[in-house]
Amino acid sequence: MRRWLMALSLVVASRAAVAHEMVALTFDDLPALTLLKSQSYVTYTNEKLLRGLKHHHLSATGFVNEGKFDELDRPKQIMILRKWLEAGMDLGNHSFSHESPNKLSADGYILDIAKGEQVTRPLAAEYGRTLQWFRHPYLETGTPLEVKQKIDAWLGSHGYRIAPVTMENSDWLFAEPYDDAIARHDDARANRIKAAYLAYTAKVIPWYQNAAHLLLGRDISYVMLLHVARLNADCIDQLNLILSHDKLHVVTLGKAMQDPAYQRVDDYAGPDGIEWLERWSLSLHKDLPWSSFPEPPPEIESDYRRVDNDL
Ligand SMILES: [Zn+2]
Repeated sequence: MRRWLMALSLVVASRAAVAHEMVALTFDDLPALTLLKSQSYVTYTNEKLLRGLKHHHLSATGFVNEGKFDELDRPKQIMILRKWLEAGMDLGNHSFSHESPNKLSADGYILDIAKGEQVTRPLAAEYGRTLQWFRHPYLETGTPLEVKQKIDAWLGSHGYRIAPVTMENSDWLFAEPYDDAIARHDDARANRIKAAYLAYTAKVIPWYQNAAHLLLGRDISYVMLLHVARLNADCIDQLNLILSHDKLHVVTLGKAMQDPAYQRVDDYAGPDGIEWLERWSLSLHKDLPWSSFPEPPPEIESDYRRVDNDL
């Protein structure tokens, strides 16, 4: 290629990069969030999800609940973590038992976090990675303030950084009815749920982009919360298209966290598991545009309640 042409294409490429906002994909509840207690289903879900992520060159961080290992076949569950690392993905700690600090108290919660890294930390080290991310279950970060501060201090002194959430699509609400449809071999219902999920995702992502602009007056790098679920494994191609359509370029969590927005102090110490745009809106005393927040379809909510009650 001629030198001037190469220079021109570099300029074009960097303009394109600037025009895109960034998003880090995070998948919680590893090995999986599923209604179905089947190792082969969980393994298949992870293999398909990782294949899709790699196919589209998407990086991701998976947040592990080690307490789930013994719910199914422990060695195979641990093998799934290995597959994430082999695929070049990062892993984080999501606590051992997925309990809230509101239930466990500060000391109990800290023990649960420490217990949650026993396998993941040495495994990550085998792949040259240091376990550094922690995602709070239910996004509940400790209340009152002294509890939150105690947890934060422990996390900081053990080399952890809290993984915030600034974008999500209620995937868990769709994921369980979808598992149920798959288990019943009801393709028509599975396809309906998929279509509703993707339509909802396409509506809710721009809401977060708009909310961030209203709140902070600029583009930010988002951290998107998803779950390791069969629904996401089956929809990864379409999710990738939605992100591209919304001009969101997928980056690692570390890269997204370089956005100075994440240096803001999170001084929310209430009991609710709220997302970070809402935390910032409370400290800035500025409202988010809740009146335009897209609600998930009522038929999906009732389907979720029904399958969840069936347990
Ligand atoms: Zn979770």
